Amino acid sequence: MKADNLQQLEKYQNELENAQEQLLIYQNNDLNEQMKQEMIKLNKRVSELKGYVKAYEMTQTNIFIKQQLVKLDPNAKLYFPASTTRITSYFDNNRKHPITGENKAHIGIDIAMPGNQYIFAAEKGKVIDVYKEYDGKMNGYGDAIMLEHKIDLDGDGQKEVVTTFYAHLMPETTQVKVGDVVDRGQLIAQMGNSGISTGQHLHFEVHIGKWSKQNAVDPMLFIN
Ligand SMILES: [Zn+2]
Repeated sequence: MKADNLQQLEKYQNELENAQEQLLIYQNNDLNEQMKQEMIKLNKRVSELKGYVKAYEMTQTNIFIKQQLVKLDPNAKLYFPASTTRITSYFDNNRKHPITGENKAHIGIDIAMPGNQYIFAAEKGKVIDVYKEYDGKMNGYGDAIMLEHKIDLDGDGQKEVVTTFYAHLMPETTQVKVGDVVDRGQLIAQMGNSGISTGQHLHFEVHIGKWSKQNAVDPMLFIN
């Protein structure tokens, strides 16, 4: 079973998004027996839908996402965080949500490609958090990793705290744990589709200081 056309894909993506939002509501509330059963059913449906969407992507990738190639600079401030350089969505503080039309800032970039893709640490640093889908800590981001670095990112000659964040990782592929020190370019996980995500991709954020929605900067300034 797979999505045969774009219309069908959008239907699946819609249903997936609604199901995931419903799961988040369940996750944050006390449930009666009926709701628990409903949640189990929904979880099953979500993994089914992810499979449909993925199957569609693997055969018709270029129909709905325009490929955009970047040139890699080995001397870039940050190491390119994925094994593919196909960037499908850029940093945008005024982005409209593709389905609901609601205004929703995108404080990172998305890098997407089906198949086995790998995620690398953007710089030497320390693992300060590892998240699991539905652990309630970083809702919507699925399995994710947060790293902290001490580097001179803005080029003023002084090192500052910089946080990088890697989201929607493939469950059970995380190679690091809290407290680990990682090297620049070290493999930390595999690209996935966990959390609120409608196709396999890495959502990558860079923050000046500790993670907060207010201090995100455009990763393209440092990886291109
Ligand atoms: Zn994103």
